[in-house]
Amino acid sequence: MQSRKHTRGRTAASPLRRIRFFTILGLLIPLSLISVLIWAMAQIQPGPSPSGTAPAFPRDTPSLILAGEGQEASWQLRLVNSTHPLPGDWDPDLSVIDPITGEKFDSRALEYLRAMLDAMEREGLQPLVCSGYRSYESQVAIFQQNVETALCQGYTQEEAEEQAALWVMPPGCSEHQSGLAADIVSAENQNLDETQEDTPEQAWLHAHCQEYGFILRYPQDKTELTGVNYEPWHYRYVGEEAARDIMSQGLCLEEYAAPPG
Ligand code: ZN
Repeated sequence: MQSRKHTRGRTAASPLRRIRFFTILGLLIPLSLISVLIWAMAQIQPGPSPSGTAPAFPRDTPSLILAGEGQEASWQLRLVNSTHPLPGDWDPDLSVIDPITGEKFDSRALEYLRAMLDAMEREGLQPLVCSGYRSYESQVAIFQQNVETALCQGYTQEEAEEQAALWVMPPGCSEHQSGLAADIVSAENQNLDETQEDTPEQAWLHAHCQEYGFILRYPQDKTELTGVNYEPWHYRYVGEEAARDIMSQGLCLEEYAAPPG
């Protein structure tokens, strides 16, 4: 009897426990399914994410810098030389590079120039932009000054102009008038001569300028094509893609902008 009663007691409790068990199970399964469904929808639904917000300018990731994105594709590739002069009234939109020097640069490319200079300063270097945009009138004055120097050395007018053109572009033909060229020197050596090549600033620029969309515009072995003597300090903004192609292939802008054949 004892055992039977005991058995009866157990069997009497079982239906209640089963009801509780299935009730809980009946609640848990739909709740779990709803939770999974909500989670899955949250994964699919578009919502605010880091990629959906405008990123800050990637100063430390130069490979992400895109030149002229959303703008006219070729403005940064404009060839300016003695056979491709700019009009006298060329009037680019300019911004001041550095309020101390007052030098200016094309507003569309200024952030790339600043990013490059910032990267140099983080490396402990001291770059100085000694010349940026130059107006037609100031180019006239600089060219004439060089012609007069040559005249004083005994050259004829024609010879003096040829001599001056070796170092200073005639008015309209200087890249500095485009607003896309910058003469960058070491703050510790501001001489525009061959000694500039030996500065750590130029070593860095020659190795990294293309990462910021700049090229060494007048390389030593391209003077016949550029018509300008080697200038290790003169950099030109052309955009990152073109800069990487030009620097990696050892080209000058004349070859890139107008390839032979
Ligand atoms: Zn220059």
